[in-house]
Amino acid sequence: MREIFLHDNVKIVQSDRFGGISEGRYESLNMGMHVGDNPLHVEKNRESFASFFGFDIKNLCFMEQVHSNNVVLIKTNNTPKADAMITKNKGLILCVMTADCAPVILFDAKNSIAAAIHAGRKGAFLDIITDTTQAMRHNFKTQEQDIRAFIGASIGVCCYEIKGEVMQKASEKFAFALEKRGEKYFLDLQKIIKSQLNKNGIVDILHENICTCCDKKYFSHRREGLCGRFVTAVKIR
Ligand SMILES: [Zn+2]
Repeated sequence: MREIFLHDNVKIVQSDRFGGISEGRYESLNMGMHVGDNPLHVEKNRESFASFFGFDIKNLCFMEQVHSNNVVLIKTNNTPKADAMITKNKGLILCVMTADCAPVILFDAKNSIAAAIHAGRKGAFLDIITDTTQAMRHNFKTQEQDIRAFIGASIGVCCYEIKGEVMQKASEKFAFALEKRGEKYFLDLQKIIKSQLNKNGIVDILHENICTCCDKKYFSHRREGLCGRFVTAVKIR
């Protein structure tokens, strides 16, 4: 578990797979309730995560993530069915669960507005980044030059082989993010997200360039199949 510095007025933290009590394929700090793990273990893991960073577990906001481009404004903790949350509430901790999909945090440093985005392949193809920045603009008058972005550990182009219909779609819309090696095609999800941030005028990007499938510190759906989830979270200071 660690903290990531993006700006003085925001706290970004991330878990990895260590320090929890889940067993088997969820070993050990699984933060996902939806992946078939023992809910009591997940609850304990979430408690450990919260207390490690000095958060109250009641303020951890999770989404029911559905690989959509649904963006919601959050005033209180209510587990929306969505893949992006935006808040100006300093008391809330917005949490994104991933295991290969990209966690993206946006922070409007001028107005102190935070967003947490679950951007997997589907979300990226639907351009959830643009929907989120537009919602920030519309609701809080956020200006692009005030946004700082963080792209967290997610599957890299090294490991993300795609085929069939997905490959077809990627080659039509995101040819710049396709890499051919021999007869195989690999997708650069992080590159797509970066280009979507750039398209929205966001250039101040902290991109760690970590592949969850290569780095065994993280859960990876591609590497492990059914597995746990780690969390990337943001709280306004
Ligand atoms: Zn990799």
